Amino acid sequence: MNYISTRDPSLKKTSAQVIKQGLADDGGLFMPEIIPHITFSELKTIVSLSYPERAAKILSMFLTDYDTEFLNYAAHRAYSYERFGANAAPIKMLDEKNCILELWHGPTSAFKDMALQIMPVLLSEALNITSEKRTALILVATSGDTGKAALEGYRDVDRIKIMVFYPEDGVSDIQKHQMASQEGRNVGVCSIKGNFDDAQTAVKKIFSDPAIAEELDASGLFLSSANSINWGRLVPQIVYYISAYCDLVKEQRICLGDKIDICVPTGNFGNIFAAFTAKKMGLPVRRLICASNKNNVLTDFINTGIYDRNREFYTTISPSMDILISSNLERLLYVLQGAEKTKLCMESLAKTGRYELDDEIKEAVRETFTGCYATEADTKDTIKEIFEKYKYLIDPHTAVAVYAARKTSLTDNTVVVTASTASPYKFSADVLSALGYAIPEGDFFGALDKLHEITGVDIPLPLNALKTKPKRFFAVCEKDTGSLWYEVEKFVKNRF
Ligand SMILES: *Cc1c(COP(=O)(O)O)cnc(C)c1O
Repeated sequence: MNYISTRDPSLKKTSAQVIKQGLADDGGLFMPEIIPHITFSELKTIVSLSYPERAAKILSMFLTDYDTEFLNYAAHRAYSYERFGANAAPIKMLDEKNCILELWHGPTSAFKDMALQIMPVLLSEALNITSEKRTALILVATSGDTGKAALEGYRDVDRIKIMVFYPEDGVSDIQKHQMASQEGRNVGVCSIKGNFDDAQTAVKKIFSDPAIAEELDASGLFLSSANSINWGRLVPQIVYYISAYCDLVKEQRICLGDKIDICVPTGNFGNIFAAFTAKKMGLPVRRLICASNKNNVLTDFINTGIYDRNREFYTTISPSMDILISSNLERLLYVLQGAEKTKLCMESLAKTGRYELDDEIKEAVRETFTGCYATEADTKDTIKEIFEKYKYLIDPHTAVAVYAARKTSLTDNTVVVTASTASPYKFSADVLSALGYAIPEGDFFGALDKLHEITGVDIPLPLNALKTKPKRFFAVCEKDTGSLWYEVEKFVKNRF
């Protein structure tokens, strides 16, 4: 299978090259030339498989230059009992119609683990497949969840080093301690005196600086990226939507062939694009509900066909969705209207912060997607209501999606699968206050323990274990590119 750029279909690459490279040479995103089809008889076979077996099967349909035995090994290693418990992506029925897909049973308690536990093995193998002699240096700017999941995924992986930058005041206390206490001999962490956009902008400048690339090359290194523009992040996410469907069949909630709706709390449009790809593969999906928080640029886009980032940016209690440029939307544009028009849209976005779709494309978007957003009050009310009604505890990101699923619910009995993207304990303080309790003074473990005391819901082991993990990284730097680069150089020199 060949991969092409969303801005130029003549630029062909293999999946190993795509995973290694991240972004296409022309600034576009990589897409498979053809989306493979999954038949009902194949789905029927998948119903009886374990999660790692399901993953190996789906991955092999996209990563055709990887050995199937290798993919099988990689999936079993990634979605093992030690890393994810007995089931990597279990479904929970709230009632006959509403199903929650729990995606936070991995080591960092957020859904990013679903991709970032397997992607390092895929990148490692990509170095072999492409006979790459250099070491990959992964730089990440994070608003919280990606950084920790990437550190945990890439720690101690040979021929890969990783350095993460996070905004000093832009992540939760738990997220901060998760990163600052990270173990592993190939990892570096630094906080910056700025917000997420500052971190992102500085890291992007490092990526596009030819002098830096040359300097790294001379020391046997090249830059690689771990965020969701990389196809290696998206393909493992397709798996759990297919897996959830198969579990519904297995539990006789639906019959093979019945359609479901899928609702996803969305930031960069990565997770919901994975669901869209599953639908394109032939998974019986009716509607995709795109749930946003107060930063509702995608809700407007779906309703009007106009993407306009020229608006106020809000900081919310669902910070991983505080995004005004949803990078992966470019992949949807490509599927719906081809490379030429996508390129024009992206040029317009870069120039004016805005683009508008043609009428028939607007219609195509609305045919598949329903947009809905939750205010901060909606989000908190939903956490409280769902706990009171079902004794089921959800985090603020999941709450945004549950709100959207209920708000846009149709009167028929079609099952709605809602992606739950983080453990409520990752956002203990906000969840506590949504439930109507005061946040305990002192360190953040107080909120964790109090939430447990009140709800009786188990604290994920890795979060509980943080209590005894010493802080290992103390570096803080200014937000300009020079300061970040200085830290990267120090990291590269000191440790290797
Ligand atoms: C990253 C993240 C999201 C948003 O996912 P996208 O793929 O960026 O749309 C939602 N919830 C949580 C908890 C996240 O960490």
